[in-house]
Amino acid sequence: MSNIFPKAAITGHPVAHSRSPLIHGYWLKKHGLAGEYGRVDVAPETAEAFYRNFSASGLIGANVTVPHKETAAASCDWLDEAARTMGAANTLWLDESGKLCGANTDGLGFLGNLDQLSPDWDNAPGTALVLGAGGAARAIVWALLSRKFTTVHIVNRTQEKAQRIADEFGSKTIAHGWEKLGKLLEEADLLVNTTSLGMTGKPPLEIDLAPLPTTALVTDIVYVPLETDLLKNAAARGNPTVDGLGMLLHQAVPGFERWFGVRPEVDDTLRALILEDLGVSA
Ligand code: NAP
Repeated sequence: MSNIFPKAAITGHPVAHSRSPLIHGYWLKKHGLAGEYGRVDVAPETAEAFYRNFSASGLIGANVTVPHKETAAASCDWLDEAARTMGAANTLWLDESGKLCGANTDGLGFLGNLDQLSPDWDNAPGTALVLGAGGAARAIVWALLSRKFTTVHIVNRTQEKAQRIADEFGSKTIAHGWEKLGKLLEEADLLVNTTSLGMTGKPPLEIDLAPLPTTALVTDIVYVPLETDLLKNAAARGNPTVDGLGMLLHQAVPGFERWFGVRPEVDDTLRALILEDLGVSA
């Protein structure tokens, strides 16, 4: 592997369908930077050795996707607060002394998207309602607490998983089963779907929005389709809405800045490029 240009990559298993090379490739070209961003498929049985000996990979840093985010975090010499809290890293870099550093930027991606598309969204942080309790939900709960939401309700089909997140993050987070949804919607200032429901090829997200105040911001991290039924129904009754594509784009910003020295912007051209690649209409 050549060391002439700084080289980073998406690592995980599989990585063939990752949009990260397209995102970073766009920014490298836009800024006229001599760098490369590729794909490295890391087989599960080699993952521990790969991340432990990351400096031997020829990469200056990497993104990490499923199923290696936890293995990557465990291999790091230093973790940022989000990665430490979640025990999972999606962004790696080598510091000047060759130590492996890790961050989790999924939550920052969620925040960056809302900051860009709904700038006043956290002016008076109140009660958030998060649907789902998977990996993305954990990052989003972290993000919401970092912006001082007073209460974060987590509703999940498997209530124990919601409870695990609530136990981890403390008394401001409360776990519930799906049957509590109607009551919780009444109090919500922000509604976030982090389940895979509503995504093309998955079952629909069936939810009666009637109790939700029309002032509540509604966001869905599913971005295929870009305007999910949740967002469509929320917009039809007057709620402000933000789609989930920007979360994917903004989570990439900190890594690019670390590796290539320029803080890139999430602009309309990048959004259009990724939407075209996804075969999704804006
Ligand atoms: P995950 O860890 O597998 O979690 C999936 C969640 O969806 C769980 O809460 C699961 O509930 C729920 N779920 C799945 N099928 C369900 C069903 N039939 N009925 C009720 N609940 C169901 O996945 P993840 O990594 O958190 O990702 C979740 C979604 O977010 C995916 O669609 C992913 O593509 C998207 N995502 C988007 C971004 C972005 O940048 N915009 C980033 C990350 C993820 P149980 O716990 O009960 O199984």
